[in-house]
Amino acid sequence: MELTVNDLSVSIGNHAIVQDVALKVTNKQFVGLIGPNGCGKSTLLKSIYKIIKPAHGEVFLSGLDVLRSSPKVVSKQLGVVGQFNELSFDFTAAEMVMMGRTPHKGLLEADHAKDHEIVREALRKVNLESYAGRSYNSLSGGEKQRVILARALAQQPQFMILDEPTNHLDIKYQLQILQIVKQLNIGLLAALHDLTLAAKYCDYLYVMKKGQVYASGKPEEVLSKELIREVFEVECEIYRNPVTQDLGIAYFHM
Ligand code: ADP
Ligand code: MG
Repeated sequence: MELTVNDLSVSIGNHAIVQDVALKVTNKQFVGLIGPNGCGKSTLLKSIYKIIKPAHGEVFLSGLDVLRSSPKVVSKQLGVVGQFNELSFDFTAAEMVMMGRTPHKGLLEADHAKDHEIVREALRKVNLESYAGRSYNSLSGGEKQRVILARALAQQPQFMILDEPTNHLDIKYQLQILQIVKQLNIGLLAALHDLTLAAKYCDYLYVMKKGQVYASGKPEEVLSKELIREVFEVECEIYRNPVTQDLGIAYFHM
C-alpha cells in the first residue's frame, strides 16, 4: 500500500503551518520525517490522518482518497501512533489495545476469541504481556507508548503513521519499537527526532523546515553536516560506526 500526498497546506488562523507539501511512501518503505521542533511535522501527519483539515491538498493510500473517506474506512487500512496519548478515562492496557480492533467490527459487535488472541499477541510483541490488567493511566510514559503501539499492531493496518514513537523510551525500547514496526513489512511514515535512528531504520527521509519540504532522499544522501547546520542550526561531524557501519552524528557547539 502506497501513500501519496500532493500539494498539502495547513493553516491555523491565518498562519501557514504546512505549505505545499508533496511526499510519497512507496510499497513497504519506511520513510522518516525529520526537522526541528515546530517545523510542522505533527501538523502534517495530523492532516494526513484526518485530525486536522488541510486548506488544500490530496492524500491517497493506494486507491483510497483519504480526505474524502470516512474515519471508519480509513482506519481499516491506516494505523496511527500519535505523539501525546493522555486519557481521561481509566482503561486497562488490554482494553486500550482492544480498541485497535474497532475498525474491523460492526456496531456493538462483541470481542471474539480471535480479537483477544490478537490483543495478547500485540502486548507480547511490545513486552507488556503481563501488564494486560494494569490501569493505562498508572503506566510510565514509555509503557504507555508501547501500549499505543500495541493498539496499532492489533489494528493490523496496511500502513502506519507514527509521530515520534520513541519519544518516551530508553534506548533499548527505541531500538525495539523501530525494529518491530520495520518487521511489519508495511508502508511506514514516521516523524523521528533522533537523526541517527532515522538514518539506521529509514529507507528514505523528508526534511522539513518552516512548514515546507527542504530536502529529501536516502539518509546517506540527505544527512550532511551542511544540511544539519542549515536546518537544525547545530554543527556536527558525520561518521560511520566502526562496528555496524551505521551512520553516526557527533554534535558540537562552535
Ligand atoms: P513539530 O511537530 O514539527 O514540532 P508542529 O506541527 O507541532 O511541529 O507545530 C508547527 C507549528 O504550528 C508550531 O509553531 C506550533 O506552535 C504551531 N501550531 C500547531 N498547532 C497549533 C494550534 N492548534 N494553534 C496554533 N498554532 C499551532
Ligand atoms: Mg511534533
